[in-house]
Amino acid sequence: MRINHYPLNFSREELIRSVVAKNRNIDNSPKSNLVEANLNKLAWTLQTIRDQISAKTGVERPIHVSSGYRSQKLNAIVTGNPASVSRHMVGLAADITVDGWPPFQTTEFIRDNIPSLKFHKIINEFGSWVHISIPMENELPSKKFITATRMGGNTLWVSGVKDYDGI
Ligand SMILES: [Zn+2]
Repeated sequence: MRINHYPLNFSREELIRSVVAKNRNIDNSPKSNLVEANLNKLAWTLQTIRDQISAKTGVERPIHVSSGYRSQKLNAIVTGNPASVSRHMVGLAADITVDGWPPFQTTEFIRDNIPSLKFHKIINEFGSWVHISIPMENELPSKKFITATRMGGNTLWVSGVKDYDGI
């Protein structure tokens, strides 16, 4: 397996570790060079966000990764749906929180301050964390901002950066 060079603040380990996988004794290590390459690209994307926050606000804010790579088995458990397909499964997505910032603030910052960021989707999920996915190889970045909220037990997906925190 080819292990790539990682940026200062994001390690391969933190993008593949999972409390759920550990508790259930699931092997969540990537098994392909493609996933390894994707995870590396993901790490550098997260580093760009961290560096830009620091550069534009003058404050160092660690970014916590709650879920990065998910093997098929782990993804089925985490989503509760064995048929679920997610970019987490190929190492192209991470769920993050920026230290001290609600998801709305993070998504708003990225929209307003990092226009060149190459991403697939950035989703404010329920005002709790930010899901960021990046393009596959040879795929143009679609750069969609989405806000997910819960309405009457269902998930509502709204296009754009919205402040639904706390609803
Ligand atoms: Zn996610």
